[in-house]
Amino acid sequence: MKYVVLGSSAAGVNGVRELRRLDADSEIVLISKDKEIYSRCILHQYLGGKRTMERLCFAEKDFETLYGITWFKERSCTHLKPEEKEVVLENGETVSYDKLLIATGSHTFVPPVKNLKEAKNVVGFRNIEDMEVLKDAAKHAKHIIVMGAGLVGLDCASGFLELGVKVTLVEMAGWLLSKQLDKRAAEAYQDAFAGRGVKQYYGVGIAEVTLDEENRITEAVLTDGTRLPCDFVVVTAGVRSNVEFLEGTGIELSRFGLVYDETGKTSDDNIYGAGDVSGSSPIWPVAVKEGIVAASNMAGVPRKMTDFFASKSTMNFLGIPSMSLGDVNLEGEDIEVEVKKTKDSYKKILHKNGKIVGAVLQGDLAYGGILQQLIARKIDVRRVKKPIFDIDYSDFFHMKENFEYYFEEE
Ligand SMILES: Cc1cc2nc3c(=O)[nH]c(=O)nc-3n(C[C@H](O)[C@H](O)[C@H](O)COP(=O)(O)OP(=O)(O)OC[C@H]3O[C@@H](n4cnc5c(N)ncnc54)[C@H](O)[C@@H]3O)c2cc1C
Repeated sequence: MKYVVLGSSAAGVNGVRELRRLDADSEIVLISKDKEIYSRCILHQYLGGKRTMERLCFAEKDFETLYGITWFKERSCTHLKPEEKEVVLENGETVSYDKLLIATGSHTFVPPVKNLKEAKNVVGFRNIEDMEVLKDAAKHAKHIIVMGAGLVGLDCASGFLELGVKVTLVEMAGWLLSKQLDKRAAEAYQDAFAGRGVKQYYGVGIAEVTLDEENRITEAVLTDGTRLPCDFVVVTAGVRSNVEFLEGTGIELSRFGLVYDETGKTSDDNIYGAGDVSGSSPIWPVAVKEGIVAASNMAGVPRKMTDFFASKSTMNFLGIPSMSLGDVNLEGEDIEVEVKKTKDSYKKILHKNGKIVGAVLQGDLAYGGILQQLIARKIDVRRVKKPIFDIDYSDFFHMKENFEYYFEEE
C-alpha cells in the first residue's frame, strides 16, 4: 500500500501520524507547498516577535524519520489523475498512490475591490511567507490598513501592535468580531484598540485603492467616500479552499470546497479529504480530527467523524478574555435574553424554549464550563428555579458513592 498525503498542516500531519500508527510498513509520501510544519493559529506571535519559527512548529523535531515518511517540501500539486491514481506536481513530476488524502486547506480570498488584485503592496494573513512580507512592511509602511476585523484581522492588528505599529481596521460589519460578539462585547475591544492608537472604521468597506505608476497603493477609498492614506493592505476578509487542482477531475466539489462524507471519503473511493479544504468549520480541532478519521479509514480501520464542535470561540486580545458560544446576535419574540454586567465583566445568554442558543462571556470566563455543559446536554434552563447566572454544577449533578458525578435526567 502507498499513501500520499497532500498538505503538511493540522489535517495532513495528524493524518500521517494516524496512518503510521495503524500501518507500520506501508510507504507514506507527504507533499506540501510548505517547507516547515507550523501552526497558523499563532502566526501573529511570530509577526510580533514573541515566537521563533521553531516555536510555531507543532510536530516532533524528527517528524520525517520518526514516522518513516518521504516528504516532498515546497512542491505544489497542480493536477490529479484519478484514473491513473497519480498526482501531478508543478514541475511535471508525477507521484502514484493507492490511497490519497487531500488536506490542502485554503488561501486568502482577495475581494473584487478596484485595483486591489493589481497592487504590489497587499498580502493576506495565512502563511509564514505572509509574515515575512509583513515584518518587512512594519519597517517602512506608515499607513497599514487591515481589511476585515474578524479573528484573523485582530490577530494581525495585535501582532503589529507588538512591533509598535498602529494599523487601521476597516470592517463591513457594524462592529468587530461580529460573528462571535454582540455590539456591547465588541465595544470593549474597540475601546482597547482605540486606546492603543488603532483607528477603526465599521459599517464600511474598501471600494477602491489608488495605485502609483509602480502599482503600489497610495490611498484607499471607502464605500462612504472617506479617503485614507494607505501604503499597505492586509486582506483578512475571507478564504477559499485549495481545490483548483481538482477541477476537471470529476471529483465532487461544492461551492465551498471538497465534498467528503463522515469517514472522509470523497466521490472517489481512493481519495479522502480533511480540514479547511472542505470550506466548512475552518477551525484547528476539526482539521485535526478529520485528518485522523480519514487516515483511519484509509488504513482500513472504520471510523466516523462523530464529534460535535460547537461554534465556540475564545479570545484574549489586549488582555480582555472573551468566550462566545453559538449565535449571540439572535433576535425574535421566542428568544429570551439575560444579561449580567459588572464593572469588569459582561455576560449574556440567549435561550429559546429553555435551551441555550448563544452566549457571550467577557472579563470573567469562570461560568464557561457550566455554560458548555448546559449547551452540550441541551439542558432546559427553566427547570432551575434560580437566576440563570447563579446556576452551578450542583443544580445538575449528583455524586455517586465512588465520588463520580452524574447528571440526573428529568
Ligand atoms: C491567522 C490565523 C489564525 C487562526 N487562529 C485559529 C484559532 O485561534 N483557533 C482555531 O481553531 N483555528 C484557527 N485558525 C484556523 C486553523 O489554522 C485552520 O483551521 C487549520 O490550519 C486548518 O488546517 P488544514 O490542515 O486543513 O489546512 P492549512 O493549515 O491551510 O494547511 C494546508 C496545507 O496544504 C498545503 N497545500 C496547499 N495547497 C497545496 C497544493 N496544491 N499542493 C501541495 N500542498 C498544498 C499547504 O502548504 C499546507 O501545508 C486560524 C487560521 C489563521 C490563518
